[in-house]
Amino acid sequence: MENYKLLTPGPLTTTKTVKEEMLFDRCTWDDEYKVITQKIRAELLEIAVASPNLYTTVLMQGSGSFGVEAVLHSAIGKEDKCLIITNGNYGERIVTMAKCIGINYTTYSVEYDTVPKSYEIREILSRDKDITHVAMVHVETTTGIINPIDDIAKLCREYDKTFILDAMSSFGGIQINVEELGIDYLISSANKCIQGVPGFSFIIAKIEKISKCKGNSKSLSLDLYDQWINMDKDGKWRYTSPTHVVAAFSKALDELRGEGGVASRNKRYKDNNNLLRRKLAAMGLNSYINEELQSPIITTFLFPSENFNFSSFYNYVKERGFVLYPGKLTRVDSFRIGNIGEIYEEDIEIVCHIIDEYISGGKYE
Ligand SMILES: *Cc1c(COP(=O)(O)O)cnc(C)c1O
Repeated sequence: MENYKLLTPGPLTTTKTVKEEMLFDRCTWDDEYKVITQKIRAELLEIAVASPNLYTTVLMQGSGSFGVEAVLHSAIGKEDKCLIITNGNYGERIVTMAKCIGINYTTYSVEYDTVPKSYEIREILSRDKDITHVAMVHVETTTGIINPIDDIAKLCREYDKTFILDAMSSFGGIQINVEELGIDYLISSANKCIQGVPGFSFIIAKIEKISKCKGNSKSLSLDLYDQWINMDKDGKWRYTSPTHVVAAFSKALDELRGEGGVASRNKRYKDNNNLLRRKLAAMGLNSYINEELQSPIITTFLFPSENFNFSSFYNYVKERGFVLYPGKLTRVDSFRIGNIGEIYEEDIEIVCHIIDEYISGGKYE
């Protein structure tokens, strides 16, 4: 099989050194391994700018969705009601989970290319007094739009609501000051901006909130409270943990620090994203999201013409070393290019050259 780089928002391209951490089989119950778990938990709090006396980190086996579902199961009690804000598939996935679990919820949805309006959310919160929780996505990976979490976090503080943020695709790539914003639960996963491999999610939780969640979860494996109580003692996971993934993630955290932290990584992603959008616009490939709402994580591009065949385009680019991502919009034809991962300006230059070859070569007309 030919090797390629992933321009997809997780799994993503990781460094050789991160992959090399997985060449050793570690023991889940061993003290050295538990130390790695505790190091990861502490370092994630540092990235979140959250003090350990107010916040804690819980690692949870599975992909990112398992982390979101664990929070919904555990944080929302029988008497509670959650306002779920959506403008894309990942927000809608939270709604699907709420339905499955049987949570009392209401939704506020806006078009995929627009962001939620805080005056409308204020209106909902002042009208519906039953709402206790607000859940939303930070960067909607469906489109690449970035939602205004500062405004909504502020409303949650003002109205005293528990704020659940799916920051899956943004945490580590965009600075999020969790304590300052008063976020109660932030969810992300190993294979996004920290640049690890897939296998677990993590939740940064306010201790005051998580400590009241005992007995809420109807799922045993996804009981965030129980996972926290066990892990907090000495770094032991309940049930088998993804040992190789955890070791790789620890290395990825070291490499994030080596790069200069979130600010430097954010700059690299942003520069790559600007370069990509500028070059593709020059080829007649326009982005779906307006510049001011565009995140540096992933960009949705519209097909240049009706005849454009994504699978032919995808194969052409893949054969030359890069994997792109199909679009997820129902009303317009689109494809996506992710910027996160071990990707540099020279990679963007090369992929733009390949795309230009395809487009100007009249390959689709
Ligand atoms: C990646 C992602 C998820 C989780 O997806 P999994 O496939 O379960 O890892 C959830 N929300 C957002 C915004 C994401 O980008």
